[in-house]
Amino acid sequence: MSQDKLIQVKGLEKRFKRLEVLRGIDIDIHKGDVVAVIGPSGSGKSTFLRCLNLLEEPTGGQIIFEGTDITSKETNIDVMRQKIGMVFQQFNLFANMTVLDNVMAGPLRVKGMKKDEAEKLALGLLERVGLGDRGSAYPIQLSGGQQQRVAIARALAMQPDVMLFDEPTSALDPEMVREVLDVIRQLADEGMTMVVVTHEMGFAREAASRVLFMDEGVIMEENGPQEFFDHPQNPRLQDFLSKVL
Ligand code: ADP
Ligand code: MG
Repeated sequence: MSQDKLIQVKGLEKRFKRLEVLRGIDIDIHKGDVVAVIGPSGSGKSTFLRCLNLLEEPTGGQIIFEGTDITSKETNIDVMRQKIGMVFQQFNLFANMTVLDNVMAGPLRVKGMKKDEAEKLALGLLERVGLGDRGSAYPIQLSGGQQQRVAIARALAMQPDVMLFDEPTSALDPEMVREVLDVIRQLADEGMTMVVVTHEMGFAREAASRVLFMDEGVIMEENGPQEFFDHPQNPRLQDFLSKVL
């Protein structure tokens, strides 16, 4: 069973000066899990994701990724980061590069992949996110939903073992939310392990295998989606759901 554990988070803490943002997070993420994280603004959701790929350095606790303690000083963070894809609310594409070059950049520069191989990979990924015909476009020529799908393809190009999404649809116009969630859901169906911070309760309910409620830097509740939404236990979760559903 334990080799199933892709990420083990143990007593994770993060402080910014005197502000305690994460106050002891414990969770195991298994291969194929689709973990949705919900919770009020400022509860530490982004900080949690950023700690998972060490964009933030934890101030306490451990993160064991595929058996390696990535919080240990001896660990090569750059190597570990390649295995962890991240997609942000803002798409952050390279504006001066075509869509295809955006997706190829990681494999070429970081993995040292040959150009024709990287191009083949990138074209396949663009196809997968429904943009097979937009490789030669520049980001500014695409809609927000299309740009976010390119950002997903770019993250996938590093062939990560887990994908982290931080409110991937929050910056989108409403009519584009669906196309992005559909791509994420398709990835989930294909067995990609992922952690998705989201305000889309319908998505959490339908696509997630587990849902976490984060509040004040701790996981206040965790359950399968049906139990989580139909029978919330913690009064703070009940209150939160009554406002967002
Ligand atoms: P969420 O994503 O749930 O809205 P965040 O993880 O972004 O919450 O933020 C949690 C708290 O940590 C907030 O009070 C925020 O202001 C604070 N915070 C986040 N990043 C930093 C930082 N780099 N420096 C200082 N405070 C931060
Ligand atoms: Mg956030």
